[in-house]
Amino acid sequence: MKKSLVLLISLFLITPVQYEFGHSSQVILIILDGADPSVFALEGFTLEGECTSVFPTMTDPGHVSLLTGVYPSRHGILANEYLEEEKVRIYSSEKIEAKTLFEIIKENGKKGVFISGKGELAAFIGVKANLSVSPGSYPVYLSAPSGDPYELTRWIFEAITEVNEKEHPDFMCVSVPILDDFGHQYGPKSKETKRAAELVEALIYSLKNFLGDETTLIVTADHGMSPTSKAIPLHVLLRNADYDAEVLYVGRCAFLYHVESGVKEFVSDQKGVEEIIEMTEYSVCHVDHRTAPDLIVTAEDGYLFIPEPLLKNYRGMHGSFDEQDVPLYMTGEGIPRMYTEVNQVDITPLIVHLLNLESGVTFDGSLPQVKEKEASSYFVLVLLGIALYVLFRKFLSS
Ligand SMILES: [Zn+2]
Repeated sequence: MKKSLVLLISLFLITPVQYEFGHSSQVILIILDGADPSVFALEGFTLEGECTSVFPTMTDPGHVSLLTGVYPSRHGILANEYLEEEKVRIYSSEKIEAKTLFEIIKENGKKGVFISGKGELAAFIGVKANLSVSPGSYPVYLSAPSGDPYELTRWIFEAITEVNEKEHPDFMCVSVPILDDFGHQYGPKSKETKRAAELVEALIYSLKNFLGDETTLIVTADHGMSPTSKAIPLHVLLRNADYDAEVLYVGRCAFLYHVESGVKEFVSDQKGVEEIIEMTEYSVCHVDHRTAPDLIVTAEDGYLFIPEPLLKNYRGMHGSFDEQDVPLYMTGEGIPRMYTEVNQVDITPLIVHLLNLESGVTFDGSLPQVKEKEASSYFVLVLLGIALYVLFRKFLSS
């Protein structure tokens, strides 16, 4: 009796409550550009969680990490733009140095579709898919998109159901820009952004009902959004102090190139500068790539790196470590009724698992572990306590 009781208690203590992801015949990944958890939330999803964005918290690194399973140090997309011969250039799709999920899907003889509200993203990463849909290029069976941000958002969700019916894709990635656009223009906590979040939430609920349980729906974001009201015009400050260092503005962080002696100390003394990240620390932030700048600087709360005259266009911004928390919701086939904490680079390994794909890639991320939600864990603990009490009573009386 004593032996079996000890065994029972040990088993309870060492067995973590854990379940696994299953498989699915279709996955739809919705990336809500700039959706901050402070304004966007969903209810009734099988699995909720927290997702940590890659650094810098920008659109291109976020989308590429979500769709490759590797960090910027391996895919090479460190921001939305890069400096070359003193000119700011936009990353083209050839600059992505890692295999994307779209390519893995094709290699497995399956079909992947990218739907985006922004033509730039379609040209950058959508070109890797079997079909790329954006306001600039869409199949004839879709209606013409509107320039109004609300109408465009409705168009994107109509495109999902139409494309689904006509093309039967195994995987769809959908990028929705309205929360990012409004977050920048009006601020993440504005009534305009809240109204946009309500529309997106309603459209996702309709889509969830339309799809049923046979499709797996994953909703997350590329990065969050912080309110901003103060500028750090770093290139002007450096020029006025006679430094030659070049600056690339990456929202709430800045990349510095050709950094001469004294620049680091000068920059760290500027109002609004929070942190200076040196090359030796790049591997910790997963930005240790051959094209990385000499120094990376982040902004204090409320600040962003921008020329002063442009500040009026940005009530919200991202780019720093402060915008790494993004929403994560999953439902449908293969999704356990659980809670999870993941990194952005775990999403591709998860989709590869769900769709049963062969990838041949060693991802930086891995299949996420799931656990009981805290509330239900407490419930399990209470039950465990009652069970132990009953067993002890039995043990003492025997
Ligand atoms: Zn973005």
